[in-house]
Formats: sequence, C-alpha cells, structure tokens
Amino acid sequence: MSTTTPEALAAPRRKHISVPMPQVPRKRRSPEEIAAESTFSESKRVLLAAPRGYCAGVDRAVIAVEKALEQYGAPVYVRKEIVHNRHVVDTLTEQGVIFVEEADEVPEGERLIFSAHGVSPAVKQTAADRGLETIDATCPLVTKVHREAARFAKNEYHILLIGHEGHEEIEGTHGQAPEDTTIVNGPWEVDQIQVPDPDRLIWLSQTTLSVDETMETVQKLRERFPNLQDPPSDDICYATSNRQTAIKKVAPESDLVIVVGSENSSNSVRLKEVAKDYGAKRAEQVDFANQIDESWFTDAATVGVTSGASVPDVLVQDVVRLLSEYGYGEPEEVVTAEEDIVFSLPKEIRKAMKDAGHDDVGRGGRKR
Ligand code: SF4
Repeated sequence: MSTTTPEALAAPRRKHISVPMPQVPRKRRSPEEIAAESTFSESKRVLLAAPRGYCAGVDRAVIAVEKALEQYGAPVYVRKEIVHNRHVVDTLTEQGVIFVEEADEVPEGERLIFSAHGVSPAVKQTAADRGLETIDATCPLVTKVHREAARFAKNEYHILLIGHEGHEEIEGTHGQAPEDTTIVNGPWEVDQIQVPDPDRLIWLSQTTLSVDETMETVQKLRERFPNLQDPPSDDICYATSNRQTAIKKVAPESDLVIVVGSENSSNSVRLKEVAKDYGAKRAEQVDFANQIDESWFTDAATVGVTSGASVPDVLVQDVVRLLSEYGYGEPEEVVTAEEDIVFSLPKEIRKAMKDAGHDDVGRGGRKR
C-alpha cells in the first residue's frame, strides 16, 4: 500500500497539529541510590520490542480527527475516546475536540466522529435522528468483523462473539445482530453458554485479544459444539498479533517488561499478560515514563519495552531516555515483523479535502 504522508495531502486551513512531548520529570531517587541497592552485577540492557505502538487503524483515526479540525475548525465532536490512549485524547482535547459518551450529547447539526473501535447501527441511527454530520473512523479491520456478523446472522447462524463485554468494540460488533449474538468473555464461560442450534454456530472475536487465550476459548467451544464454524479470516488483527509475537520473544530474557499503554487499552493490557506468561519476571504498564517507579530497576538487569497499538512512539522514547539515566545501555531492537499497512482516510474526510481542492487525498499513515 502507499505510504504517502498526510502532510503531503493537503494545504490545511489550520496549522498542522502535532502531538507534543509530555512532561516527564518528577522527583526521583537518584541513579546512584538505585545502583547501590542493585541485586545483580550484569550490565544493564534494554530490549525494545518491534513492532510496537501505532497500528494503521489508530493512525488513520487520529489523522481523521486532525484533518477534521483542519477542514472544519473546532469544535469537532468524537464519540468515546478516538483511540484508547490518554496522551492522544488529552492532546486532541487541547486542540478543540470534544469527547462525548453518546451521540445524543452532541448539539443538533454538529459534526461527530465515530472512534476506531466502531459503533452499532443503533448509534448511527441516533446520530442520524439528531441531524449530525458523521465521520466514521472505525478501523477497517473492525468493519470487516461487523460485516461478517451481519452476514452470518442473515444466513441464520448464531454468533459466539469472543471478547470483553462492555468494551466499545464488542458493543459495536454485538450491535450488528444483537438477537443472534452471544458474547463469550473467555474459556471459563464456555460451559454455561446456551445456543439455539448447535449446528449453525460461528465464532467471531474482538480484534485485540490474546491470541493464545482466544485459541483456548475456541478449542473449548469446539469440544462442546463440534460443528462450530471458523470465521472466513482471523479477527484478531495483524497489529495485535504482531505486538504479542514480539513481546513473546523479549519476555523470556527480561527481568522487567514495561508496557506503555493506557489501562483501558485492551491490546496494551494483553501485552502485559503475555509478557508475564512468557517469562518476564515482572511486567508493569504505564501511560507515561513519569509513572515508572525507579525501585523496579534494583533487580532488573534486562528491561523489555513495548507499547500498545494506540501509543505514539514519543512516549516509548521517554521511557528509553529514563532508562538511560539509570545506566541502561542503548536499546537493542528485537524485530519479529515489518509492518507497512496504511489505510485510506474515512471517505467523509477524503471528500472534504477534495472539495477544498486537495489533489491527493487517499491515504492516512504516519510514523510516530
Ligand atoms: S488494533 Fe487492529 S483492529 Fe484495532 S485499530 Fe489497530 S489495526 Fe485496527
């Protein structure tokens, strides 16, 4: 796919918005104090998992909001967090974005962006009833799952939707065919599930789950329902699965794994779990480097670092910088896959840019 940068796409009405560096410093115990308490004598190493951080769907959604601000001016409304990252949400809020929980909070006739996690048809209807102009920043890989759900329900299958009840993505997918879908939170729920016809069942999943746990759930479902059908292609997306593969490689060598990512970021939480499952002696999750407790370093000769799919790399670089202040060497990158996927921007944004006279409006995609 093309990697044309968004900056090349438009002469914006407003100055281009960039995500600024967060404030890192806070009062810490000194590197010398921490070194004095160290329980090891090996040299200090940092293993940086790759891929990590921004995926194509998150990049597209954030660019869509930035472009909406440029094209239409503030305020622009976004339903839920555009992506689950505190820094991104705080930064966009400062730029004039108003985040709302539901479409009915948006004044009639205003412009509303749907987040990368997707929405149900009922949410779209609420927005339409209020006369809102909408921009759909749902990740295309989530839209794919929505279409599968609608299609299989139409063909009279019952859908076993593996994912976390209450997560926005699961609400959106469940909403495609609510009468024909049962949510399965994990393998522990399989024994209690009731289905209308065990011979017309398909499983689908949230895109950001643990690959291993999902396979365990499917295995248990299949033991109970031998005619369970598989989805046409994997629902756990390339970005989730690549980030888990990378941390699986890093974790066995790590005394401490630091996952950069917000608490409500499903794929970040999964990275922490996977790191522990694959041998990290300790795994911690932080939004920002200033949340790291330096006492974690006293027994950590090797520190692994990764980040969730909604995390700009500037936040990881802050962590690396902090580690270097505490005597850790240059990071060694552990690369398990290369990613070059870029999604087209939402059609509403492309149209707005085209109407404003921009020639090349097709692609999102930016490395951060
Ligand atoms: S994590 Fe996967 S499904 Fe979610 S936005 Fe990124 S690419 Fe899309």
